Order: sequence, then C-alpha cells, then structure tokens
Amino acid sequence: MTDTITLRRPDDWHVHFRDDAMLRAVLPCTARRFARAVVMPNLVPPVSDVAAARAYRERIVAALPPELPGAAEFTPLMTCYLTDTTDPAEVARGHAEGVFTAVKLYPAHATTHSAHGVTDIDRVMPVLEHMAGLGMPLLVHGEVTDPDVDVFDREAVFIGRVLDPLRRRLPDLRIVLEHVTTEEAVAYVSGGGPNLAATITAHHLVINRNAIFAGGIRPHLYCLPIAKREKHRLALRRAATSGNPAFFLGTDSAPHAVPTKETACGCAGIFSAPAALEIYAEVFEEEAALDRFEAFASLNGPKFYRLPVNERRVTLRREAWTAPQSVGEGDLAVQPFRAGETLRWRLAS
Ligand SMILES: [Zn+2]
Repeated sequence: MTDTITLRRPDDWHVHFRDDAMLRAVLPCTARRFARAVVMPNLVPPVSDVAAARAYRERIVAALPPELPGAAEFTPLMTCYLTDTTDPAEVARGHAEGVFTAVKLYPAHATTHSAHGVTDIDRVMPVLEHMAGLGMPLLVHGEVTDPDVDVFDREAVFIGRVLDPLRRRLPDLRIVLEHVTTEEAVAYVSGGGPNLAATITAHHLVINRNAIFAGGIRPHLYCLPIAKREKHRLALRRAATSGNPAFFLGTDSAPHAVPTKETACGCAGIFSAPAALEIYAEVFEEEAALDRFEAFASLNGPKFYRLPVNERRVTLRREAWTAPQSVGEGDLAVQPFRAGETLRWRLAS
C-alpha cells in the first residue's frame, strides 16, 4: 500500500472565487493546491469584457497571501461570460491579449448569477464561429432551463436538445461540458472526439442525490447540476479514473456564506476547495486507479487547453486530518464540503 502520492502540480479547470472579502477568504484554499485555475465569470455584474476580466485577474493576484506556499506561481485563467450581446471582436481581442482563456456559456437562469446568460444559441453563433476559428474553448453549463424538464433530467436533455445540435453545426468548436453528473454525459463525451471534454467535480464523485436528504435537508450538499442517482455517480467514477483524456479535474468549488445556504430558499453551490485534491485522491484510491490520478488532475486538462503541463510537483501523504469546519469570518463564513470529517490523504507542506 502506497503512503505517498507525488504528481505534477494539478490545475483546477473550473472554480468560483467570488470577489472582495469572500475572494480573500477562499482563494488560498485553491492556490495552495493548484497551479492554475479557470475562474468563473459569474460575478455581479458578470465579467463580460476584457477590461472587467483584466481587473478581476488583478484583484485575484492581489488577494494571494505572499507567504502562502505556491502563491508566487499561482495563475488565474480568466473566462468571458457569454451573453446574447457579446461582441465577437471583444472575445477575439481578449484572446489575443492573453486575458481570456475561454468563454463560459450559461443558459439564462440555469444557476447562481446566470440571469445574463444566453437565451438562444442562435444569438451567439457569430461569437462561437469566431471561437471555433481561434481554437478557443467554450465552457458549457449543460442544463436546459425549461421548467417543464425535471431538475434531475436537465443535463441529459441539454445534450440532445442543445449540445449535440451545436456540435453538428460547429464541429470545430472546442467544448468543455462542465461538471458532468450523468451517465448520459459520460457516454456522450467519451465518444465525442478530440474537440469535446468534460470536467468532473470531487463532490459528484462522492455523493448521490440521497445525500441531500439524509436525515433531513442538507443545504450544503445542494448544487447545480444537482447530484443524481447512484448509477450516475458510479459512471462518473469510472470516467474520471478511466484514463480517457477527455475527462479532467474541475472542482466547481462555489462558496456561499452559511446564511445564504441555511435559509428557506438556499443558494446552489458546494465549496470543496479546502480539501478537493485530497478527496479526489481518496476516490482514485478507492477505485484502485492511483496510477491514473496524475493524468486526470495534471495532464488531461493542459492537453485540452493546449497549455504546458506544470513542472513542479506536489505530494500527498497518507495521514488522517480533519477537513475545516468553516472558512472565512463572521457573516461570510462558508461551510466546506465534508466539513469536520476525517480525510485520509493530506497535502505535504
Ligand atoms: Zn460552476
């Protein structure tokens, strides 16, 4: 039995940092573990032009505690929030200037702060055509928002109704289907060829939908896409640990202050950053796939994004530790995923 795991420093290909005090509280959890992070643009207002993304990137870098191990190398990769009125020239300029790594597509009203999202793919086709020419990835929140579609079916319906037609229209567009949660998504991405990939969160590898209702309603386990049946969780575990380069790490760590979760209408989002890498390691060990952990965490993502792999290494040791109960202060405190639970892999200092 191995007691250490050493791998190239991983990247988180999907994370929410928020802004201001929340940013300062949560950023170290990610920067301590990951070399790069694809930063979601769903601030209020959304990060939808080059100037806003550049300014947000500067606020992130300024929020890094200089004494934090890894802080000096941490690189936020910025995304452009796609709206019905996004100008293709603005996206191209952000790409050329090294500000935009990718563009994020939220169907309007799909999740937290997505009110400015896309109402109809037809309206953004000029942007998407331009991105296909540039080889610039489109990051997709893959859920339909039609209230007639059951919340547990929205991802699978999105694939047939939106994603597959889009890929037929624009086969050269490079797409990441973010935070996949279903066996349908796994099957679609597995057979999707080189221009299609998917991120998988730590929490969707650990919980199924029963966890949300275990002994009472568990608001800290509510996220979108919502966790699905057990058969879907097992499909995600097979995909993540398969070695298929189309699947890579993206935590979708999404902090919400406790009062906005523990309320009559709580926000969607699971904050996994304080232990995400360690939880993924548990999953890979349980699946007897630690030999494929580095590919998922550190190699497949850069390959799809056409970025160099990280040269530095991180080490996890088999050492029991307790995940933090809380991150952040006062009104902004956030309860992390698996708060207070014992984890068996620990990041070496
Ligand atoms: Zn997200």
